Amino acid sequence: MAGVAPRAGEPAGVPMPGAPMPRTPMLEVRDLYASYGRIGALFGVSFGVPAGSATALLGPNGAGKSTLARCVTGLVPVSSGAVLFDGRDVTGEATWKLVRSGVAHAPEGRSVFATLTVEDNLRLTLRRALSRSDAASALEASYERFPRLAERRRQLAGTLSGGEQRMLALARVLAIPPKLLVVDELSLGLAPRVLDDVFRALRAIRDAGTALLVIEQHVPRALDLAEQVVLLRKGTVVHAGAVAELAGEAVELFSHREPGARVTRED
Ligand code: ATP
Repeated sequence: MAGVAPRAGEPAGVPMPGAPMPRTPMLEVRDLYASYGRIGALFGVSFGVPAGSATALLGPNGAGKSTLARCVTGLVPVSSGAVLFDGRDVTGEATWKLVRSGVAHAPEGRSVFATLTVEDNLRLTLRRALSRSDAASALEASYERFPRLAERRRQLAGTLSGGEQRMLALARVLAIPPKLLVVDELSLGLAPRVLDDVFRALRAIRDAGTALLVIEQHVPRALDLAEQVVLLRKGTVVHAGAVAELAGEAVELFSHREPGARVTRED
């Protein structure tokens, strides 16, 4: 993973014989700084997310996770450093341009049209990008992913519960999978059964090639999905590495826990 130091004796950027070729990151954040007015929020953050993989961005309240997510999707200006998308420097690029290039931000990126039915919300997304027959099968795939939406297909989106609206917003994002999906606290307010559907859908688009940057309060769920973990604290990276290397160890993750609480993958 970019931003993670090579092991001792391993030259940077040169794969060991027989080692898999490193994948070019779909997202790369280089020495990123951001602030709100005069108050700094990010201080030199660097890491990368390869295509077809998920990185969990963890840390306590106020660590800068959402700020980083918003810098990546152009919603918060970067003070210095760079954001690269698919090898291209997109620092400072407008959100709509990023969306067009294949970057999505859930749940911020796309809400629902309250006065349209669930089905019309989905159709609107699909018909913009797909032929009539592809749109019809993508619609069925959305309903398979989120059976609750199938049950509510004729209901006006504005009359759905908050959790159902979030599910519909996510279904719209996933209907045409982006190259990079930034997921910020999607699970807030969602029932466990719905959450299972959401994480299954995230896994499926990751396996199909989407790069995921996942901010998630429920640490075990995030670590279960992700291959890499980046731990932020006070706007800096305090740990970055493979989730597999955390296996079996108790890890101090701070996130939404009492100071000193131990969090394990089995929690
Ligand atoms: P949480 O888990 O609580 O959502 P976070 O890790 O996502 O936290 P951020 O929301 O990125 O953290 O906040 C990082 C810092 O920037 C905090 O000190 C916060 O108070 C500050 N901050 C965030 N948004 C704004 C804003 N719109 N205006 C001013 N300061 C902000």
